Amino acid sequence: MAHKIGFNKPYLTGKETEYIRQAVETRKISGDGKFTKLCHQFFESRFGIKKALLTSSCTDALEMAAILLDLKEGDEVIMPSFTFVSTANAFILRGAHVVFADSESNHPNLDIQKIEALITPRTKAIVVVHYAGVSCDMDAVMKLSEKHGIPVVEDAAQAIDAYYKGKALGSIGSLSAFSFHETKNIMSGEGGLLGINDPRFFNRAEIIREKGTNRSSFFRGEVDKYGWVDIGSSFLPSEITAAFLYAQLENLDEIQKKRVYIWKLYHEMLKPLESKGKVKLPVIPDFGSNNAHMFYLVCKDLDSRSGLIAHLNTHGINAVFHYISLHKSPFYQNKYKGNPLPHSDFYTDTLVRLPLYYELKDEEVKYVAEKVIQFFSA
Ligand SMILES: *Cc1c(COP(=O)(O)O)cnc(C)c1O
Repeated sequence: MAHKIGFNKPYLTGKETEYIRQAVETRKISGDGKFTKLCHQFFESRFGIKKALLTSSCTDALEMAAILLDLKEGDEVIMPSFTFVSTANAFILRGAHVVFADSESNHPNLDIQKIEALITPRTKAIVVVHYAGVSCDMDAVMKLSEKHGIPVVEDAAQAIDAYYKGKALGSIGSLSAFSFHETKNIMSGEGGLLGINDPRFFNRAEIIREKGTNRSSFFRGEVDKYGWVDIGSSFLPSEITAAFLYAQLENLDEIQKKRVYIWKLYHEMLKPLESKGKVKLPVIPDFGSNNAHMFYLVCKDLDSRSGLIAHLNTHGINAVFHYISLHKSPFYQNKYKGNPLPHSDFYTDTLVRLPLYYELKDEEVKYVAEKVIQFFSA
C-alpha cells in the first residue's frame, strides 16, 4: 500500500453544507431551531428516548446529568476506571467522589457483579459505559438500581444504534449521554446529546441547558416571562452544528451498514489468529448488538501490543491503544483508595484499535489484517 492508512477519517454524507446553508439563511442560527428539533425527534422516535436534548458535547451532557442528580460534596458515584476522563470529570466538578469499579475479565465493560459491594449510603449514581457500543448487562444494572434506589446514567458516547435485548442503549437508564465527536459513528465535529428517560428531570434539564432560565417554556408560551430560576450553563449547540448532525442522522442506516461490513471483514480475517491463541477478538454478548463503533484486538501483554503498534506503523497503518485506567492517572493516582482493578489495567496495557471508518476500502482492511497476521507469525 503506497499510502498511509489513518485511524479515523470523518465521513461526509454530502448534505451537511446544504443544511448548514439552510440554517444560516433562516437567520435563526442560535440553538433550538428547526434542525435541533429534527435531531431531538430522531432520537426520541427512533431510539425510544423519552426526551432528547442536543448539547455541545457528550462531556456537556454528562455535566448536565451530574447537575440534575443534585450531586453534592461527599456524594459517591460508581463507574468503571476504564473510560474517558469526561465520565469522571463531570461528577468531580460537582464535588462528588468517584468510586472506580473493575472491568469484566472478557470485556472492557464494567463488571456488574462488582458494583454492589461498592454501594454505600452516600452512593448517588451508577454510571455505565457501553464500551465500543457493546451493551453492559442492563437488566442486572437496573435490578441493582431499583433495589438500592440509585439512578443509572448511561455513558452511551460510543453507543448510537446499539441495543440491549432490542432496546436502544441510552433509553434504559434515567439519563444517558451520546457523543458526536468526529471519531464517533455519527458526528458533527463536536457535539452531544442528553437522553432523559425519567420524566422528573424533563423540566429542570431544559432550565439547566438554558443558563438556569425557563426560556424554553417561555418560547412554548407556557409562562409569560422568563427569568433566572436555577443554576445552569450554556449547554446547547448552534443550529449550524444541528444542521450538520441532521445530515448525518438521515444517513444512519447506510453508515452503520458499511461500518458493520468492515467490522465483519476484520473479524473473518483475524479469526484464525484467535484460534491460534495469539490475540482475543471483541466479544459481543447475546443480549447485545454490534454497532461497529470499534474493532479492537486484545494482545497478551504490553510488549506484544507495543510491538504490534510499531509493526503496523512501519507499514503506514495508524493503530492506537485506548484508555489508561483513571485510578492510575496522574490526576487520580494519589487520591485512589480502592482495591486494585486488574482487568482495567489489563485493557490499559493490551487493547489496540484498528482503523475503522466509512471510506476504508476492502483492500485496505485486508492489508491491515494481513499486517497484523504477519506480526504474529514472525
Ligand atoms: C467520546 C467519549 C466521551 C466524550 O465525548 P465528547 O463529545 O468528546 O465530549 C465520553 N465518554 C466516552 C465513553 C467517549 O467515548
